Amino acid sequence: MFKSKRCAALLIATLSVGLTLNHGGQAISAAPSKPAKPPVVKNVIMLVGDGMGTAQRNAIRLATKGIDGELEMDSMPYSGLIHTNSADPKSFITDSAAAASAIATGVKTYNGAISVDLQGKPVKTILEQAKKAGKATGLVTTAQVTDATPAAFAAHTANRSAQSDIAKQYIEKTKVDVILGGGEDYWYPAGHPGYYPDTAEDAEEGSKGKQGNLVERAKKLGYTYVRTADELKRAKGRKLLGLFANEEMFQKRSEGEGKYNPVVSLPDMTKKAIDVLSKNKKGFFLVVEEEAIDEMSHDNNGSLMIKAGQQFDQAVAVAKRYAKHHPDTLVLVLADHESGGLTIETPGDADESEDSNTLSDENGPFAVAHSKQTFTLNWTTTGHTAAGVPLTAMGPGAKRFAGVYENTHIHDILETLLFGKRER
Ligand SMILES: [Zn+2]
Repeated sequence: MFKSKRCAALLIATLSVGLTLNHGGQAISAAPSKPAKPPVVKNVIMLVGDGMGTAQRNAIRLATKGIDGELEMDSMPYSGLIHTNSADPKSFITDSAAAASAIATGVKTYNGAISVDLQGKPVKTILEQAKKAGKATGLVTTAQVTDATPAAFAAHTANRSAQSDIAKQYIEKTKVDVILGGGEDYWYPAGHPGYYPDTAEDAEEGSKGKQGNLVERAKKLGYTYVRTADELKRAKGRKLLGLFANEEMFQKRSEGEGKYNPVVSLPDMTKKAIDVLSKNKKGFFLVVEEEAIDEMSHDNNGSLMIKAGQQFDQAVAVAKRYAKHHPDTLVLVLADHESGGLTIETPGDADESEDSNTLSDENGPFAVAHSKQTFTLNWTTTGHTAAGVPLTAMGPGAKRFAGVYENTHIHDILETLLFGKRER
């Protein structure tokens, strides 16, 4: 029921003439019905700020652009609000795996699932469909490139921890054209440190691949393999594998500690991915993720959450610049869920973190850009929350993302825009 109402609302937004509503909320066309033809979408760039709720977006905005300023991700013509709940029988509060699976496949599933349904059956993803239609595909992230968010677009496993299986599926089965991020540890077996020495930054980091040497395998399959910013810049060819850290491309710790220090910035990875993928005449489907927004939120590290968010916004700028010159490109900026139960407060208000009865943690004060004012960040959890998350969109079909809807709706709309399928 909810779905049909939602589709009706979208139809109203889409069609300009001859519509009335019947009692059940379904749209009826008074004029001879001819559904509006979906606009042509050649390229999709989906940018995911993992864990980026409304408060994260606003904290990044205040610190970067000030009280009246707008981020790149906010200066887009359409916006929506996503319900993020998973179909997990134990907890409807989603993890990144179930959320990305819902966005990629249109099917809600259990937490930890990588594009398999509640019965464990693989469900085709929108990226796989794009590939089948002849488009180039890409995954870019500051997490392990085999981490849950990118994985759900290009692999199927019952458990998100099977990262070497996921890597193998990327190169052998889904044949993702551009793969850039961290997580070298899952591409090399134990005893083969790879380019980034084991335990260099973190004692727990080290090669632990379970599928042999997947870097060698990728090279045999025609991938150009790169390990540094310089190598990435110089890389040629249509298939590209870049692994830039043992695990994440940053070090997650609590406020005042940790590092956000990717050896290649998210905007630079995004730019290179677009350069390579756009050589395909049939277009491309690219997923770009900033993982540190989520992970720093888990550790209640406001400073580095903001720093990562600023880089994410620069990656959005790169995507928007491309879309402005290539108007058949749809750009979506969204989140999979909120992390940390964050809010923004006036400095000097009672610091609840001193109260041993609450779990609240506070960071700051942070300067508001172009202002003498400051703000503090107040966290209420180190986990995920069920708070809805914003989406912004530009390009052909962007207005179909206006409204309030389930995360699965993103898949359904993309399927319509890319392949002309009827909305479910
Ligand atoms: Zn998380």
